[in-house]
Amino acid sequence: MLVAAIVIFVCAVLHHFRSNVLRYASLVMTVVFFVVSSSFSLRGVRQTAAAAVPEAAKAAQDLASVPVLDDADVLDGYEDTELDNMEDIDTFSLDEILAENNMEDGNLEEEAPGGLDEGVSDAGVFAIDDWRLVLINKQHPIPEDYTFELGTIKGSMKCDARILEDVFAMLQAAQKDGMKLVICSPYRDLNRQTVLFERKIKAYMRRGMTYMDAYKVASQAVTVPGASEHQIGLALDIVSSSYNNLTKGFGNTREGKWLAEHSCEYGFILRYPQDKEYITSIEYEPWHFRYVGREAAMVITENGMTLEEFVDSLIAGSGR
Ligand SMILES: [Zn+2]
Repeated sequence: MLVAAIVIFVCAVLHHFRSNVLRYASLVMTVVFFVVSSSFSLRGVRQTAAAAVPEAAKAAQDLASVPVLDDADVLDGYEDTELDNMEDIDTFSLDEILAENNMEDGNLEEEAPGGLDEGVSDAGVFAIDDWRLVLINKQHPIPEDYTFELGTIKGSMKCDARILEDVFAMLQAAQKDGMKLVICSPYRDLNRQTVLFERKIKAYMRRGMTYMDAYKVASQAVTVPGASEHQIGLALDIVSSSYNNLTKGFGNTREGKWLAEHSCEYGFILRYPQDKEYITSIEYEPWHFRYVGREAAMVITENGMTLEEFVDSLIAGSGR
């Protein structure tokens, strides 16, 4: 009797379910959806709170220990048809550059150290929209409407035409002080920058890194395409004839020290100083000099600032 009652009850329930199968199915799906999504978000919250921080720190540590590739590392071993089509970058010594440009003695003497009159109307007042102070970094890519004219230092070696006079003045002063400067790659076009950057990412990925990690490491060593001062012709990479690779040791050479001390007199700053990586996101580059104009360069250098800090102080000062 009891068994019969149970059987009838189960049959009734089953029949009920079968006739309402769609409604129950959607109910079950809804319940499943909520359970799954809440367990995901719970897990996410827990991970963010506890595990993510040490993981990120560990990853950063791992990435920091990866040897840095420079441009030379990704030039070897490639059939360089890709880069051959681009204008290659010349390297010229000071003597070669100055010889060709008919430097008239006395012509640039007036622009020598201390001559801060040029381009500055009100001493100590800087305009945030001054082209010389344009901030280019990972957070501030080159504005799409940025235009400038290229001027020739020598051969295919070019920079913003407006800074040529100060470039030559600095080179002449360096020569006078017996410095054997060598300028390389002042202006890089976007294609070349992009090719080198992508090669570095590939090289890191071949060592087993994920794309994201490879991108992070590559962007520590070179500027991310679209975020380089070289592309707007305001940066010079300068080394010396006795030390002609772009490595940190250049900072200890006579020429490296001369540039760090005197380049500001001609409107240049050491753009990526030591111990300021946390601001610039770029490792110390004792060879990379950025034109900002003489007056700003003096203020930035004398105060041991970065361009980021200087621009920030201008923004703060203008109340913007
Ligand atoms: Zn550079």
